[in-house]
Amino acid sequence: MKDTNEMKLEFDSRSCNEGFARVAVASFLSQLNPTLEEVADVKTALSEAVTNAIIHGYEGRVEKVYIECQIKDREMTVAVIDHGCGIPDVEKAMEPLYTTKEEEERAGMGFAFMEAFMDEVFVESEVGKGTKVIMKKKINRVPHQFEE
Ligand code: ATP
Ligand code: MG
Repeated sequence: MKDTNEMKLEFDSRSCNEGFARVAVASFLSQLNPTLEEVADVKTALSEAVTNAIIHGYEGRVEKVYIECQIKDREMTVAVIDHGCGIPDVEKAMEPLYTTKEEEERAGMGFAFMEAFMDEVFVESEVGKGTKVIMKKKINRVPHQFEE
């Protein structure tokens, strides 16, 4: 038997859909019985990735954002995908405080938050083709004092 559970979402790149995406992923995650803090972490990281797809990837054009979620054992993997402009230098883009939208008062902290709130963050991007941000988080880790 397949030991994974998967779901996909596709929605328009409108900022009014950010809340929907956040709640949909949080509600899928609830089967792992996460703590409130874990739910908040995933929601924050997801919001950052979805906002980036909307404002940077599509630069305000209304196209589709895709979310792919997979649960395996106690780990959730969530990918946020856009078919927008892509990122020329991913390493640089992921540096804290780096932003290409300073004039819009962006802090350049989106990727830093994703890395802080999730266990792992990978970014695949190609200029002119789009960006895929893959994030992983284990839920209900055994508390430290019980760890071997
Ligand atoms: P903040 O998230 O703090 O509002 P920001 O969005 O500029 O500011 P990050 O989220 O860390 O900061 O992203 C850094 C930079 O990476 C962005 O300024 C943008 O140039 C680029 N970037 C991020 N996501 C995408 C994307 N999906 N498509 C194209 N470029 C992106
Ligand atoms: Mg951002």
